[in-house]
Amino acid sequence: MIVFRYYQRKEHMEVEVVRVKITLACTECKQRNYNMTKEKKNHPDRMETKKYCKFCKTHTLHKETK
Ligand SMILES: [Zn+2]
Repeated sequence: MIVFRYYQRKEHMEVEVVRVKITLACTECKQRNYNMTKEKKNHPDRMETKKYCKFCKTHTLHKETK
């Protein structure tokens, strides 16, 4: 797993933000369509989101894979 760490200034404080690189795969055709990063603190579990799949040519549910 690729992890990015950086510091963000919030309300006069430096807070550490941890982002991890994830791949989103279409649950219909299993194609890996999206590479993105997520904030680990906000999404500790596997992400699921509706995104456009160019193979299905419609919006489908995409799930985080490894
Ligand atoms: Zn698809």
